[in-house]
Amino acid sequence: MKVDGKRQYDLLEKMGFVRVSGSPEELKAAHILMDAVKEIGFEATLEPFDVADGTVPLASFEVIEPEYRKYTVTGYKCAKCTAKGGEEYDFMYMEQFDDVMVKRAKGKFVLVNGRVTLDIYKKLIDAGVAGFMTMGGTVIDEVEKTDLDTRKIRDTYAEYGLLPAFHIRMIDALEILKSKATKVRIELETKNHIHTSHNVVVTVPGTEYPDEIIDIGAHYDSVEFSYGVWDNAAGSVTIMEMLRYFAENPPKRTLRFIWFGSEELGLLGSKAYVEKYANELDKHVFMINVDVGGSILGQNNAVITADEGLCKYVEYLAKEVGYSTGIRHDIMSSDSTPFADKGIPAINFARGGGGAGSGMGFMHTRYDMISLISADALQVVTEFAVTFADKIVNAVVFPVPKKLPQVIIDKVDKYLAKKKD
Ligand SMILES: [Zn+2]
Repeated sequence: MKVDGKRQYDLLEKMGFVRVSGSPEELKAAHILMDAVKEIGFEATLEPFDVADGTVPLASFEVIEPEYRKYTVTGYKCAKCTAKGGEEYDFMYMEQFDDVMVKRAKGKFVLVNGRVTLDIYKKLIDAGVAGFMTMGGTVIDEVEKTDLDTRKIRDTYAEYGLLPAFHIRMIDALEILKSKATKVRIELETKNHIHTSHNVVVTVPGTEYPDEIIDIGAHYDSVEFSYGVWDNAAGSVTIMEMLRYFAENPPKRTLRFIWFGSEELGLLGSKAYVEKYANELDKHVFMINVDVGGSILGQNNAVITADEGLCKYVEYLAKEVGYSTGIRHDIMSSDSTPFADKGIPAINFARGGGGAGSGMGFMHTRYDMISLISADALQVVTEFAVTFADKIVNAVVFPVPKKLPQVIIDKVDKYLAKKKD
């Protein structure tokens, strides 16, 4: 069988709609994948899992001094509600988290410059701020051509305490600073609920070593406003093509293909999967993950979350078959990480890069669109992924040790915030 980029592109086109965790559209995409699996000759199962989520019935942000102005904002889901009617605070621009800024922030509502990582979140809590606001987009955005997304306080953050939190366009944040805002009124109402998301799972039994399992995964959900073709319908169609290959070339080891839901809400599909199969994980020897691909102005990449020797193996194999790729010994912010957390080594195939403006800078926006994707770009990565998978899946002795180096374990722990330093 030949890998067929055009066939991948056709399936990707079918999935090119917004597919947010727990939505009817996410489920619709799951069924498109299940139909494609059926066409290949397998039966996929739909495995539901619960997702703690929320809605934001009210998010209001007003500058009240020195001049009144109301701004469009979104409120963080699962954030702390304010009193009804709102609360007033002194306003401060928290340009960074050095001692000077931290000292000044107590009791104030702060505009944060940059991403609120768990570390930053803890600093906000420790600084005793009254609430915070993050910025989205760029200073050259046009309102009608861009979207302001809704963020969420994740469970791992909530452990440290809750604050009212908002998200605003960067162009508005700029204006707020230019106007020398000193006092703001905020009002936030959030409601928490549980919804259902799904993993799509197919098992291809191994012919010689059925008790050794290799997981091959890609997430199929998207964020709001995004058609999610690059991120990650591309990965979804890549592993579909891999399934097609192994349908025609039965593998010696058992393969488990998984299309994960709710990756974008914090790798929730893969976390649910490793929990559900906790009792058999000792049989899982490796994971192949594909996240982002198909970009015309892209660069191939392999992120190796395994014994460092695998980096050399991939480098040599790439040279042997003439595949251009970057290789990094690292973890990826994707579904391979919950596997690594359970001691299962992984490789991540991706086609990213290309810089802002090429399409890659448009991750998680309405500009993650099919005009930036080609069948050829899908095909080249898939061909290599199949070549690599075919070798290790059928190896006489499985070549990748099921032992992660300490440097990788530390990164996984930090990423999953196990260490409460
Ligand atoms: Zn992704």
